[in-house]
Amino acid sequence: MSFELVGLPALSRFAVDRGEPLRGDEEKLAALWPKARMIVVDTRGRTLVADRGTRLADWPALEFGDQPPVNAVLLGEQDGVAWFAVLMPAEDDEPVPAGRAWGLPELTDDPQWLDLRQAGATLDDMSAGLFTTAAALFQWHRLGKYCAKCGARTVLEKSGWTSVCSGCEREEYPRTDSAVICLVHDGADQVLVARGPEWPEGRFSVLAGFVEAGESLEGCVAREIAEEVGISVRDIRYLGSQPWPFPRSLMIGFEAVADPAEPLRLAEGEIAEAKWVLRADVRKAIEEPGSVPGLGLAGGASIAFRMLQSWSGAASEE
Ligand SMILES: [Zn+2]
Repeated sequence: MSFELVGLPALSRFAVDRGEPLRGDEEKLAALWPKARMIVVDTRGRTLVADRGTRLADWPALEFGDQPPVNAVLLGEQDGVAWFAVLMPAEDDEPVPAGRAWGLPELTDDPQWLDLRQAGATLDDMSAGLFTTAAALFQWHRLGKYCAKCGARTVLEKSGWTSVCSGCEREEYPRTDSAVICLVHDGADQVLVARGPEWPEGRFSVLAGFVEAGESLEGCVAREIAEEVGISVRDIRYLGSQPWPFPRSLMIGFEAVADPAEPLRLAEGEIAEAKWVLRADVRKAIEEPGSVPGLGLAGGASIAFRMLQSWSGAASEE
């Protein structure tokens, strides 16, 4: 018994034109600058979120100078408004007073510094897409300061979307690491959930793992499940995907069928606990978090949440 995702995963939403041809087009960007908007992301991956978690705080780009600052990235353009982001240092581990950050104009509502995991599920479509793209780009910048071929420093071009080696001129584009994530069910009313050793007691999700060199996605699904819980799966089927820039994964979601009678053999150091649970319990745990003893599930920003919600028929939290 197959199922479909009930909606896009939270971080897969993107509502503006990515504006690829605009990147690095200084003339067009200069023309767009007076009406452009800016979001800020700090070095801990947080941004200011306003209106009770539903949208990003943003400022007129002109507050940041007469032209795009060298470290600004272009996120996209919609209805003649270009959207940019800049990376700002986090002030120690303390939140910067809202609106006073970096001398920006004070915001009238009560914004909070939140990261993507915290804010991803409540943001509107446009904000979720802009924040996810900004977070992914800044992570790539952080990890790609040196050329992978010759080791020289890289320089960013194309509004933050291309890095060019200062030594050998090798170009690189934003990197992602492919990871599969799979909801394993029995074809009826049970789903397999597992807990990593570093997770709190009672917190469970579906199985996931990174795709290896030379491996197909389906091969990775079968291998990861066999390695982590010692069972074989069949009927592997694609569900959907979402970016997960922590630091640079693309989560590729699947479902697969397995036999609950097959004994679970947990990979030491990788899986602390795994169990089959009933559809009704998953639904209840999503609709009323904490209501099913020993079953806390993945957060709303994750694709795991959307997969479990869709399979169980739980009411949408939006
Ligand atoms: Zn190089």
